Order: sequence, then C-alpha cells, then structure tokens
Amino acid sequence: MPILVMKFGGTSVATLDRIRRAAKRVGREVANGYDVIVIVSAMAGETNKLVGFVDETGPFFDAREYDAVVSSGENVTAGLMALTLQEMDVPARSWQGWQVPLKTTSAHASARIEEIPPENIMAKFDEGMKVAVVAGFQGISPEGRITTLGRGGSDTTAVAFAAAFGAERCDIYTDVDGVYTTDPRIADKARKLDRIAFEEMLELASLGAKVLQTRSVELAMRYKVKLRVLSSFGDMDESVGTLVCDEEDIVESKVVAGVAYSRDEAKMTLISVADRPGIAAAIFGPLSEAGVNVDMIVQNISEEGRTDMTFSCPTDQVARAEKAMEEAKAKGDINFHGIIADTDVAKVSVVGIGMRSHTGVAAKMFKVLSDDGINIKVITTSEIKISVLIDRKYMELAVQALHDAFELDKVA
Ligand code: ADP
Ligand code: ASP
Ligand code: MG
Repeated sequence: MPILVMKFGGTSVATLDRIRRAAKRVGREVANGYDVIVIVSAMAGETNKLVGFVDETGPFFDAREYDAVVSSGENVTAGLMALTLQEMDVPARSWQGWQVPLKTTSAHASARIEEIPPENIMAKFDEGMKVAVVAGFQGISPEGRITTLGRGGSDTTAVAFAAAFGAERCDIYTDVDGVYTTDPRIADKARKLDRIAFEEMLELASLGAKVLQTRSVELAMRYKVKLRVLSSFGDMDESVGTLVCDEEDIVESKVVAGVAYSRDEAKMTLISVADRPGIAAAIFGPLSEAGVNVDMIVQNISEEGRTDMTFSCPTDQVARAEKAMEEAKAKGDINFHGIIADTDVAKVSVVGIGMRSHTGVAAKMFKVLSDDGINIKVITTSEIKISVLIDRKYMELAVQALHDAFELDKVA
C-alpha cells in the first residue's frame, strides 16, 4: 500500500471535536487506499503550559526533565486520535516516540533525529492496521532518555517519517490554508502562495515564520519529500494548500518572495571589551558552549583599544548568555564594563532567491523603514535574505510597509 504522512498541529487537535474532524480526513485517505502515518502535536496551548511549569522550577533546569515534561502533551493527543479512529472503525493504534523507536541525539530540548527504523510500524501495517498515530516532537536518546526536537518539532517528525517510510506525500495540516507571503495574522494583504521553493521556505522558517519548523524543511529538501501545507479547517475538498518544491518548479518569479519576523530576539551588548586578536573567539566560544544561539553580530568602532560588541540571541537565552559572559570574565578570559540586554527588539527579514541576481533590495528595504521613521539597530545579509533588528513596537508596521513596498500582494 502507498503510505501517506498527515500531520495535525496544535489548533487542529485542540478539542475532541477537532480531533474528530481531523480523523475524518484520515479516514478518507484510508478509503483512498493509503496506509497513513498520522503525526500529532499537543493540544493548542498545552506545550506552552508545560514549559511554564518547568520555568517555574527555576532558570537552570535539567534539560532531560524538561523533555520528560514537555513531551507529554503529544502522548494525550496520540491516544485520543487513535481512539477516535477506532470509533470510526478505522484500525489504528498510537505510538510514542520511544516505542517506534524514533532515535535522536542527546541534545535535550533541541535533539536531532538520527534514525527511524520502520520495522515495528510496517509489521503492524502488514497485520492490517491502517493508521499509525505517532506522537510528534519526541524521541529517545542513545542513553534511553526522552528527548524533544525543539518548538514546532512535530513538523520535523512528520517529514522524517515521510522520508523513512518513502511516503508519497507529507501533508502538514495547520490553522492557515498554506504558506503566505507573510504571516496573515499581522498583514491583511498577505497572499497565499501556491508554491514556494525549499530555499525560500528554509530562510522564512529560520527567520521566524513558524508555519514550518526549519529542520523539517531541511529534511524535506535533502530527502526530496513532497511537502504540502494546508488547512485542517473548512471543506475537505477545497484546500490544496501550498506545495514546497524545487526552485525549477516555480512559475512565479519575484525578487522578494516573503517577509518574516521574529519577536523572540534580544540584543546584547558587552560594553568596552579589549579590541585585540582573539576577542571574538573569547566571547563567542563560551556562548556557544553554553548553548546560546547567536545570530547577528556587530563589533563597533574601537576607541583607545576598547570597543563594544553587540550580538542577538533568542530572548529565553539571555540569562544563559549573561552567565557565560560573567564566568568568562571571572576566569580572566575577557573583560568588559557591563552588559546591556535589550529585549524590546524584533527581527524583520525579506527573503527571495531573486536577490541572487538583483541588486537594490537592501537599499529599498532601508528606505522603506526610514520613511516610516523606524531606526535600524543591526543588519545582516546573506545571498537570499536581508534582516534588520528594530524596536519591537514597530515590528508590524515594518512588516506591512515592506509587504506593500515589494508588492507581495500582487501576483508576479
Ligand atoms: P501548528 O500548531 O499547526 O503547528 P503553528 O502555529 O506552528 O501551527 O504555525 C501556523 C502559524 O504560522 C499560522 O497561524 C501563522 O500565524 C504563522 N505564520 C507565520 N508566518 C507565516 C507564513 N508566511 N505563512 C503562513 N503562516 C505563517
Ligand atoms: N507541541 C510542540 C510545540 O508546541 C511541538 C509542535 O507542536 O510541533 O512546540
Ligand atoms: Mg507548528
């Protein structure tokens, strides 16, 4: 039997009624002749609640226990989805990550998938089971501990299963009917794309468009998984969603494909560090060892042999970054006069493979922001994206202004 992977995100399994609606879609694919692997997220809001409990225990918790707690939301929905399918006379059973087993690295809270042996689930399909409902987001480490794949990780579970089982397609069901030119929740004029290139989706995801987890796009690209994003709401036959595909298969050709934003950024500045060879290594080495994901970096102009070093990192890593810097200072590896952590910033980015061959995108972006009186604090660029750090209060304005300026509401 051909295999299909169907993933349902948090809002699509938020209540028993929604689980029933999702199960109907699964039932229809079974009737179409597929064996289906269903990947479920936790009910909407559940993972946030669990993370909140862990946070309350203190700032420097044991990541293995964090995973034990936050993975549990998916166990509930996997069981409920299997029960709902059985109720509809569809032979189904649930699997937690360790039961598959979905093997991961030991990097707790951000583990990577290493292997998914298909034998156990295939044996059940051979016995007549039609649907394997798998708890997303979770796996097992070589040490036998429960791991999680980072927030939004169920997308990655889904794509990894599609690759491991040679699925015909991986359908990601969510609360929007596809990938848009920007988040439809903050820009009314956002337009749904029929197709988007892997490279662009990868950048948009890594720059904050949480519709797909970054790693899921990487995996789909590497293993040539046919990946589709669509809505679990509304009429079953209406939704065709967005296909994430190779650049060659895109008809529309725009220089900028989309605008992404991330609220989850903090700007950290080390005041007055010695400007000497090796200073960057002395700062960013300990940060990396402490698990801080540094994104943008600016070293300011130096005066009398001293300079300020600015970098950005996720807001929830600020405490860890400060600790790592104070420890490096205590050891005498670096010296600085103080640390300023600005958590009222946001990152806004424009993305498009057309930037490879078109100049002037950065200049236009900066002009648009300045016309709205928005000050740019840090800039980074790569071949197909430009990102700026700005005050968070201007984030939505910046996204909308850029969306308008690059005419993303219009088909190319
Ligand atoms: P799920 O719970 O189904 O995994 P998520 O909340 O993780 O859903 O992702 C879907 C959300 O992603 C949408 O509700 C939307 O607000 C947001 N989003 C951000 N950028 C985009 C984009 N470019 N296109 C579509 N959705 C986007
Ligand atoms: N429930 C997890 C989260 O909220 C994983 C997911 O939904 O993809 O991050
Ligand atoms: Mg998600």
